Amino acid sequence: MKPILPGATIGILGGGQLGRMIALEGRPLGYRFIAFDPTPDGPAAQVCDDAIVAPFTDKEKALDFAARCELITLEWENVPAELVDIITSVRPVRPEASVLRVIQDRWVQREFLKKNGFPQTDYRAVTDLKTDAKKVGYPCILKSRRNGYDGKGQSRLGGPRDLPAAAEPLRLIERQVTFAKEISVILARAEDGRAAVYPLAENVHRNGILHTTRAPALVSEKTAQAAQDLALDIAAALGHVGVMAVEMFVLDNGGLLVNEIAPRVHNSGHFTLGACVTSQFEQHVRAICGLPLGDPSQRLPAVMINLLGNLWENGEPLWERVLSRADARLHLYGKAKPAPGRKMGHLLLLGDPEQALAEADTLLGSLRAALSA
Ligand code: AMP
Repeated sequence: MKPILPGATIGILGGGQLGRMIALEGRPLGYRFIAFDPTPDGPAAQVCDDAIVAPFTDKEKALDFAARCELITLEWENVPAELVDIITSVRPVRPEASVLRVIQDRWVQREFLKKNGFPQTDYRAVTDLKTDAKKVGYPCILKSRRNGYDGKGQSRLGGPRDLPAAAEPLRLIERQVTFAKEISVILARAEDGRAAVYPLAENVHRNGILHTTRAPALVSEKTAQAAQDLALDIAAALGHVGVMAVEMFVLDNGGLLVNEIAPRVHNSGHFTLGACVTSQFEQHVRAICGLPLGDPSQRLPAVMINLLGNLWENGEPLWERVLSRADARLHLYGKAKPAPGRKMGHLLLLGDPEQALAEADTLLGSLRAALSA
């Protein structure tokens, strides 16, 4: 396909912070953006040229949206694949619906990894929980096949005693991995197979939600290379176009197991915006438009800290405490209602990652407004 050149309008399915940052980073290249999301005035709509507010089931609105764009992309992988099919009949969509069909169902995703020989934990689709848990082995994790994110739709089973409490709609069971580290590989792939890969991100989750990312990850050169090669092979096998994140577990012996694929820009890649020559968001625009890919090199080591809604418990956080730091960059997503666990923004700390990680909790504590008497 011919490159889609600056000046064109790109439609984004989904209106959250990922869409917001795609638009913010794509506009300097001269593109225009329209967001499509059921919620008005979301993070993306606030910075796009226009926004269409409609449910993801509204075919007519989706066709109007497509007619106004040269190219469509997405910032959320659970946009119904049928809607993407309809849009594809009039405009190119990158990544394609076929990629979404693999990713949207965790079991299909695991089957895809298995078919292609990519390493992962043992898993089964649940038909009889007791038998399947025994076959996979304890401890194991029960997951929903669809729509799970940030650890939602998951239930851990330490042994048979936990079976009665296990939620029934969770239909995928996985052996729990004892890992040394969690990492992710952020990469971009173009339609003709050209690819660029970022330095590895090392991630710490709390309650299933990403808490901090350190980049580059503290892993051996060999592990880093193996992880990058694995992620590039996965993107090629999927026929993915755009930025993709592959989350992996690093085992004590340096081995790698794939946890999850996200066919989009990713929270663990936020460090690229501020720490790398080309951010993952600009890179995504370049990849989907068929432009040359940007340089993914990292200029400075970085730590990213997520700012969750809990921080707003006592009122607006005391931003001056980070704004006065020369090493810190504050990103807020423009969400109106803070809620516990909701991603409201992030902080990027550049420089010494050891020090930044050691300070993270104190820094977050210092941002909290005091309880009024
Ligand atoms: P997910 O939504 O599947 O990425 O899960 C969220 C987090 O739960 C992961 O980042 C891991 O920390 C943890 N987790 C998920 N699946 C497993 C597993 N099979 N073994 C160990 N930890 C897991």
